[in-house]
Amino acid sequence: MKAPLIDPFQRAVTYLRVSVTDRCDFRCTYCMSEDMTFLPKRDLLTLEELDEVSTAFVNLGVRKLRITGGEPLVRRGIMTYFKAMARHLESGQLDELTLTTNGSQLHRFAADLAAVGVRRVNISLDTLDEQKFSKITRWGRLPQVLQGIDAAQSAGLRVKINAVALKGFNEDELFSIVEWCASRDMDLTFIEVMPMGDLGNEDRLDQYWPLSDLRGELRQRYTLTELPDNTGGPARYVRLEETGQKVGFITPLTHNFCESCNRVRLTCTGELFMCLGQEDRADLRPALRDPTAPALDDAIRAAIRLKPKGHDFDYSRQEVAGQMTRHMSHTGG
Ligand code: SAM
Ligand code: SF4
Repeated sequence: MKAPLIDPFQRAVTYLRVSVTDRCDFRCTYCMSEDMTFLPKRDLLTLEELDEVSTAFVNLGVRKLRITGGEPLVRRGIMTYFKAMARHLESGQLDELTLTTNGSQLHRFAADLAAVGVRRVNISLDTLDEQKFSKITRWGRLPQVLQGIDAAQSAGLRVKINAVALKGFNEDELFSIVEWCASRDMDLTFIEVMPMGDLGNEDRLDQYWPLSDLRGELRQRYTLTELPDNTGGPARYVRLEETGQKVGFITPLTHNFCESCNRVRLTCTGELFMCLGQEDRADLRPALRDPTAPALDDAIRAAIRLKPKGHDFDYSRQEVAGQMTRHMSHTGG
């Protein structure tokens, strides 16, 4: 047994999010610009390298892997990587292998994902209106995503919908989204829009719909019971007593969740980000490609020693403070 990964604030790192590509078949306005320049393929970790780093983390005590991107299901050969990670489920070293996806390719992959041991999937969907969906994703088509959700449920995957709360965009759909999820037995999490990437024409502050407001609206129709947090993550959950469903809120801007943070993020180029909201990072690629560099385990341990106490996002002064210049698709959200 190797010693577990403990950061300077005594938090055990047991959760790794792996971004397997920066590419995507959508261009959500809050995530990417329309004319994104993607990384040259040679800069990406190969599937074998992704396996090697992920496995090193598992051997150092990581028990949960979430695969993300960009859009993870557009990475060529991605099932090879999922199959490789399934061996850690089988050995009992990993509790959960899961992914966050825009759903566009799920109709092709749902059955295979279930077959390798994926049990749950997070699908991002901000609106049930076809035109609004095209507007917010720029390139996406709602029917294809709905087909993906059907395929996921048919394959026995538990589905959670992630919706970014956007002022003036999906406020009017709050109850229809909640009821649609309840009718399909899907969990639902709302995410506050975060100041990632260059603002361009889309001003994140204008789009910012505080989840405290959203919660207040839910309370007008439902009885909300707070549920204890057991994920160590940024989400807080309530149960809507009338429907029995679980609704989550990811509120990096109104709730500081950093004290219980158990996660780090690996980018598709092998950089390890210790915090979604800080620039602290370590490049693990030399440990994979350069025989003279420190060994991978040592590089990971050195990186974890740099995990900061928390992030600095703050909208409270009506300006975007602590803004990150990198896009969410780089670190995987
Ligand atoms: N493409 C996949 C998807 O959309 O689910 C996985 C990657 S995406 C970057 C992960 C999550 O980040 C999505 O739920 C997306 O809505 C969210 N996201 C992207 N940009 C965001 C932003 N600026 N603020 C809050 N959430 C954001
Ligand atoms: Fe693609 Fe996901 Fe970003 Fe949308 S949020 S552009 S689907 S990576």
